[in-house]
Amino acid sequence: MAGIYIHIPFCKQRCSYCDFHFSTTYEKYKDEMISCLASEVVQRKDYLSEDEVTTLYFGGGTPSLLDIDHLSEITNAVKNNFKLANNCEFTMETNPDDINPEQLESWLKLGVNRLSIGTQSFREKDLDWMNRAHTNEESIQSIQLAKDAGFKNVSIDLIYGLPEQSLEDWKDQLQQAIELDVQHLSCYCLTVEERTALKKWVEIGKLVIPDDDVQSMQFRLMKDMFEAVGFEHYEISNFAKPGFASQHNSSYWQGEKYLGIGPSAHSFDGVKRRWNVANNQKYMKLLSTGDYFEEETLSQTDKFNELILTGLRTVRGVDLVELQGIMEIPASVSEQIQEAEKRGWVEVSGNCIKLTGQGWLMADHISSAFFIV
Ligand code: SF4
Repeated sequence: MAGIYIHIPFCKQRCSYCDFHFSTTYEKYKDEMISCLASEVVQRKDYLSEDEVTTLYFGGGTPSLLDIDHLSEITNAVKNNFKLANNCEFTMETNPDDINPEQLESWLKLGVNRLSIGTQSFREKDLDWMNRAHTNEESIQSIQLAKDAGFKNVSIDLIYGLPEQSLEDWKDQLQQAIELDVQHLSCYCLTVEERTALKKWVEIGKLVIPDDDVQSMQFRLMKDMFEAVGFEHYEISNFAKPGFASQHNSSYWQGEKYLGIGPSAHSFDGVKRRWNVANNQKYMKLLSTGDYFEEETLSQTDKFNELILTGLRTVRGVDLVELQGIMEIPASVSEQIQEAEKRGWVEVSGNCIKLTGQGWLMADHISSAFFIV
């Protein structure tokens, strides 16, 4: 099994926390870029070597910005050059303000069967400083419209750790999300990226970001409230009703092959990882020369550390036999594991290491302690 990710490098919004300055010259370059994306799909038809494609994912930027002809051009290139599984999970990232009955119907006809809606917050005040184009009402309406149109697999994104967001505020957001009865939730802790308006506002004290303790309490509250209503916390930022975990992202975390199309898109063929040039112009200019990407062959150490990093972030944890299969587990790493177990950060049962509830809050710290450096 393998996945295909299509990176749509366009967005009309200017979110204050986003460091992806996508070309706003969508109108000028859209035709050229879309045909480049479709050409790259054809150019790389052998990359997954006959593996059946079980997931197709349109991300970005804002794929919902594209009109149906452009979406079809890329999708048809995929369908004509790869073997898609009958139950292929076809995800489209969309902004709430791009959703309407006509769009939804055309996406369904295209084969999209999972929507990832960029809600971010149900509080107008947050949407304002985020500089999001949609309103809270549009968010709630977009989810209902998606269900009414026939989408059975809807995911929404929410952000916590927001300025002036109390635990009570976050509780209201979580309750709102629960009442909307979606199948999947992705909840990210706000990060203050370089070169963003948010960074400037924090630096001049215009916005104050909650400290680690508040963020930890928000994380615990989220986990408790979602698990209490039947969501599985299957990855550090992701919750799903049974059977609705994102197959596409799960395959990343399980080290499966994936093909990434578009500027800055990453690919992995099981041995080598490669990444395309990030600049839109360079990508379109260099695509026909073949000189638009770089690649690296993963060493055994890379594979060892990657299995730890991706495995510990998920409810699956890390299989020690699988780890040992990559390379001998050094004594130093075994000691770190025992130490983390003593501190109650991980639990080791049989051949599997998993983070505990306390450990989830320090996943990156714990993972890096188990790395072979
Ligand atoms: S909509 Fe998404 S990609 Fe566009 S600016 Fe906002 S966060 Fe960035």
